[in-house]
Amino acid sequence: MNKTEIETHPDFDGHEIVEYTETDNLKAFIAVHNSNLGPTVGGCRMFPYATTTDALADVLRLSRGMTYKSALAGLPLGGGKAVIMADPYRAKSRDMLLAMGDFIDRLRGRYITAEDSGTGVKDIAVMGERTHYVSGVNPDNKYGGDPSPVTAYGVFVGIREAVNYRNHSDLKGVRVAIQGVGSVGFYLAKMLLDAGAIVVAADVNRDNLQRVRDLGVSTLAVDEILGAEVEVLAPCAMGGAINRETMNKIRAGIVAGAANNQLQTPEMGAELFDQGILYAPDYVINAGGIIDVFNQRQESKPIDTVNQQVERIGATLKSIFHQSDMRCVPTNIVADEMAEAIFRPGCRQVA
Ligand code: NAD
Repeated sequence: MNKTEIETHPDFDGHEIVEYTETDNLKAFIAVHNSNLGPTVGGCRMFPYATTTDALADVLRLSRGMTYKSALAGLPLGGGKAVIMADPYRAKSRDMLLAMGDFIDRLRGRYITAEDSGTGVKDIAVMGERTHYVSGVNPDNKYGGDPSPVTAYGVFVGIREAVNYRNHSDLKGVRVAIQGVGSVGFYLAKMLLDAGAIVVAADVNRDNLQRVRDLGVSTLAVDEILGAEVEVLAPCAMGGAINRETMNKIRAGIVAGAANNQLQTPEMGAELFDQGILYAPDYVINAGGIIDVFNQRQESKPIDTVNQQVERIGATLKSIFHQSDMRCVPTNIVADEMAEAIFRPGCRQVA
C-alpha cells in the first residue's frame, strides 16, 4: 500500500503518521491521528481483515477515535492505533509479535501500544521485548495490566447513567442485550447481573458464550441480539453494529456499549436520535481502558483511584445527553464538538 493510497482514503482525516509494513511474519498498520495533547496511545488489534483497504479503514477510524476519547476523558494523550492483519486464534506467533515490537519501536515513542481485540497482556509483553513503547503489561495491576475490567466498569457506569437519564430508574430489572461477550462483555455482564439487571447475550464464540451462561445470562442467536426486546442494547463486539441494515431492528431505547466505531457512519447517530434512541457515544463510554492504561504508565495507582476517574464518564455522558436534548443535536455530534474544543490547537482548553 503506497502513500497516495493511504492519504486519499476517505477516513484519512489529516493523520500525522500512517505506516504500513508487510514482511513474511507481519502485515500491519500503525496510525497516529493527532498528538496535540501528548504521546499517542491506543491498542493493537489483531483481526483477519479481508483486504488491506479494510485494515486501513479500521486503523484510521480507531486512531481518530482515540484522539477524541483521550481528550474527553481529560487525559494528556493523543490518539493512535495499530492493526495486525491476522487471525488471532490461528495465525498469532512469537515472531509476528516480535516483528510488531520492532515496527512500533521505529516510531520512537510517537505511538505507544496496548491490548485490543485479538491481543492480550502476554502478546503485548512479547512486543515489549523489542520496544519500550508498550502499556497495559503491569504485573502490579490487579488484572496483570488487562484494561478490559476497567473498560467494562466505565460501560457499566455509562449504562447506569443512561438508564437513569432516560427512565429515571436504577438497573434493577432492566433488560440489557450484550452483543459480544469477550473480555469486556464478560465483565460487563457480571456487573450488570450484580446490579439486578436481566442480561441476554450473543457471541460467535461458543466458549465465550458458555462463560456467561455459567453466570446466569440467557443467550440469543447472533442475528437476533440487535433486535432483542430490551431497554438497553450494548454492542461489545466489532465496529459498525449500527448500520443501515440493523437500524430498523433495534427495539432498545438506549444504545450503550464498549465497541469502538459502533456507528457505521456518523449519520447513524442522527437516525438513532430521530428514532428517539438515546446513544451513548462509544469513545466516551468505553474510555475506562485508556484511563487504566494511562494510570499504569504514570505510576501504578490503586484501582479505587482509577475507578473514581472512570466514574466521571457518567457526568460527561449526562452533560452530552442534556446538550443533545437542549440543542436538538445527536449525541455523537455533541461529543465530537466537545472533544474538538479540547484537542484542536487555538481552541479554548476545557478544564
Ligand atoms: P474481544 O475480542 O475479547 O471480544 C469481542 C467478542 O465479540 C468476542 O467474544 C467475539 O467472539 C465476539 N464477536 C465478534 N463478532 C461478533 C458478532 N458478529 N456477533 C456477536 N459476537 C461477536 O474484545 P474486547 O476486548 O472485549 O473488546 C470488545 C470491543 O470493545 C472492541 O470493539 C474493542 O475495540 C472495544 N474496546 C475494548 C477495550 C478493552 O479494554 N478491551 C477498550 C475500549 C474499547
